[in-house]
Amino acid sequence: MEDMFILNEDQRAILETVARFVKDEVTPRASALDANQDPEKCFSWEIIEKAHEVGIRTMTLAEKWGGLGADCLTTAMVLEELAKGDMGVSVIMAQTFKIAQLMQKALNEEQQARILPKFAKDPRGILAIGMTEPGNGSDKNTSHPVPFRTSAVKTKGGWIVNGLKHFISNGNRASYYLVMVQTDKAKTMADGSTFFLVERDRPGFTIGRVHDKMGERLANNSELVFQDCFIPDENVIGAVDKGSSVFGEFAPQSNPYAGATVLGVAVALHNKAIEWAKLRVQGGKLLVEHDGIRAQLAEMRMLIDASRSYIHRAAWLADHREHGWDRTLAALPKVMASQAAWKIATWCMEIHGGYGYMKETGVEKLVRDAAVFLHSDGVNRTLFLKAANAMFGLLPDPGKRQ
Ligand SMILES: Cc1cc2nc3c(=O)[nH]c(=O)nc-3n(C[C@H](O)[C@H](O)[C@H](O)COP(=O)(O)OP(=O)(O)OC[C@H]3O[C@@H](n4cnc5c(N)ncnc54)[C@H](O)[C@@H]3O)c2cc1C
Repeated sequence: MEDMFILNEDQRAILETVARFVKDEVTPRASALDANQDPEKCFSWEIIEKAHEVGIRTMTLAEKWGGLGADCLTTAMVLEELAKGDMGVSVIMAQTFKIAQLMQKALNEEQQARILPKFAKDPRGILAIGMTEPGNGSDKNTSHPVPFRTSAVKTKGGWIVNGLKHFISNGNRASYYLVMVQTDKAKTMADGSTFFLVERDRPGFTIGRVHDKMGERLANNSELVFQDCFIPDENVIGAVDKGSSVFGEFAPQSNPYAGATVLGVAVALHNKAIEWAKLRVQGGKLLVEHDGIRAQLAEMRMLIDASRSYIHRAAWLADHREHGWDRTLAALPKVMASQAAWKIATWCMEIHGGYGYMKETGVEKLVRDAAVFLHSDGVNRTLFLKAANAMFGLLPDPGKRQ
């Protein structure tokens, strides 16, 4: 926390609560949960309920809905703090935080009044967003999107949805979902898709496979299955066929939040590397007394600090877009932080020597966790392409579709 670049009193108080929550509720449980073979057993409702008790779960809801009205910068700081304890817990909350923020922007008054009080009261209320399909991943991040396979046909009073989403964070745990569905099959997903609000118990909607993952195991990911699922007109978010406008409201905070999450893991790895270097004697002296190792620890620090500055700038600008936000900031901060984290992960393992490979030091879990954001929230290479297309005017402008 002492590394934070900007901290006002509210942020300091929130971060202290989060640090205590991590110390008391997350750290003592994380490695045992991570070690479960069955991915569903890696998830803990107890952690979510404790997050509810201390006001973390609902912190991005406005005060009128019972939250703290946390802005994007504060949220990014909180996600880093959570991820120092466990990456999966940070991801569960990142999804919930950013979807709650999106709901307050994109849901109409009737939808907000129907959903947000129930979400606020439910100690297990978490949220999910479903876009990715088995045959449709990076295309939502590039300039040549194709149609989704999950599609909807208009019927009296609503839509009949059929199809499948996969890899969805919180997929099997959420109470509400925002799902992007093709509503005009003749068009691409950018021009012919719509976001629907889906309640967990809606007939025709079921959870498919829960994915078994390499890391970030305390968060679950699953398939969402739609079989002749009727979704009423009152659950359409924004305008029909304008789902990309809703997505345009999501990406500015989603990317720095993903960056903040993986940054928390980088900080945990850096701390472990420092601890080890102060403990391990080789070549007649502590590792930290070897110039090469000490310099490597400083380079890790630089990568962390520079990534944090980029993330904080992008998060602040997500709330103040008139002050120079541009679309590269919805792509690159996560790329920088995840590349930094991956480098730090391999260096932390190297500094630990053979001990880093053994589960007993806890480095191995962090290495698996650090790998997630090379791909999640968009594959890094594809996000470079998205940023390049934004720089050269080659991305469609979601705002112009309204
Ligand atoms: C842990 C995790 C959590 C996730 N959570 C969610 C979620 O909550 N909701 C959701 O909707 N999705 C989620 N996803 C999906 C994630 O956003 C996708 O995995 C990601 O967009 C990449 O899609 P893909 O996996 O199909 O890879 P692909 O698109 O198949 O990419 C494969 C390779 O091809 C490259 N590539 C693709 N297109 C191009 C191109 N045009 N030019 C050059 N190279 C290209 C990529 O860079 C990559 O190297 C999650 C994924 C993971 C791993």
